[in-house]
Amino acid sequence: MATISARTEIEKEQLNRLRRMLHAILPANEFYRSKFADAGITQVESLEQFRNLPFTAKSELVEDQQQHPPFGSDLSFPQERYIRVHQTSGTTGKPLYWLDTEESWDWWAECWKVIFQAAGVRSEDRIYFPFSFGPFIGFWAGWEGARKLGALAISGGAQSTTQRLKAIVDYGATVLVCTPTYALHMAAEANKAGIDLARGSAVRVTIHAGEPGASIPSTKKMIEESWGAKCYDHAGATEVGAFAFQCASQPGAVHVNESEFIAEVIDPNSGAPRKAGEQGELVITNLGRIGSPVIRYRTGYLFQSSHQPCPCGRPYLLLAGGVLGRVDDMVIVRGVNVFPSAVENILREFSEIEEFRVEILEKATMKEMKIVIEPSSPSGPIEGLDERVSRRVRERIGLRPVIEFVAPESLPRFELKARRFFKV
Ligand SMILES: [Zn+2]
Repeated sequence: MATISARTEIEKEQLNRLRRMLHAILPANEFYRSKFADAGITQVESLEQFRNLPFTAKSELVEDQQQHPPFGSDLSFPQERYIRVHQTSGTTGKPLYWLDTEESWDWWAECWKVIFQAAGVRSEDRIYFPFSFGPFIGFWAGWEGARKLGALAISGGAQSTTQRLKAIVDYGATVLVCTPTYALHMAAEANKAGIDLARGSAVRVTIHAGEPGASIPSTKKMIEESWGAKCYDHAGATEVGAFAFQCASQPGAVHVNESEFIAEVIDPNSGAPRKAGEQGELVITNLGRIGSPVIRYRTGYLFQSSHQPCPCGRPYLLLAGGVLGRVDDMVIVRGVNVFPSAVENILREFSEIEEFRVEILEKATMKEMKIVIEPSSPSGPIEGLDERVSRRVRERIGLRPVIEFVAPESLPRFELKARRFFKV
């Protein structure tokens, strides 16, 4: 357990940073100036007082950008100070456009440096980014973080999976940064081309984001075995920053970078704080993105806080199991919360499954789950696979799914934010 003095130090520094940030953004930042004026707040004197500030919801930011197009009013400086713009993927509605100043962008890069260092990545490493370098922020920020670290960054933009595999081998890449899904897709393609990545590539560390996979035990195991590498998770969001990372002790959890973020776990319905060890929605405040901050921002992601000590000795809050899922992706079956990540964990235990899609039939009287499976064998499903999958799902989450097989290559492949769970 973190010592009391280490926690006190963290909280003292958080309060200092918060006060400095509020001083810098109020009254220049119109979004927070009017939000806090409505709540009668001009400064925060303690963390208790901070916890009484109003939450910031994503819907407020979306509405603000609609009223003040295109970038909204959560801006602390004139627009000419901003040097980068990115957008959210818009999977849950209209995309948000997010600006960064030079200082804020530098802060993002520093947060990524923390992720790399915690995974044991060093300046002599060669980091490969099999990423299309579109308008999404995640891997752009990782790219900048690699520069901060002094490592060699290799772009895999505008390349096919085959070209990327060749580049990884030819450049002697030692670190791979991508979504868990894409790491598995590359491994499957390598397998088909007769490339043994575990022996034939120098990749020793993989770092993932965008999906919960790298904290799902069986997905992580599959990535580690196919790449012959250690697999690390991290969590971040466009409007928030890269707020959590995994350390080399790999306790099956991610650490919140509490030097740069204040984290709270709340009941998603009532907003009341959750106790240590309970599941809830993560609320984040970033302390270094002065140009476009979020304060008590409801991330929409469910996490479970843990007060177990981490063998690495970092006093930061641990979130057990990484991202458990989105609040709106959770399904309640017979009073039990079922997350897509729990279903993925089961399906990834079957090497005979290459890709899958899950449909929750919400309208049925008894909730039904249909699992569409694309087998890895080109000759079709292996005898009895449907029975084995069905049995394991029922044992673990108490639901008997309907299993359907489809032909190889018929389900979509994803480079970013795989979407495999649908409520119908
Ligand atoms: Zn640790």
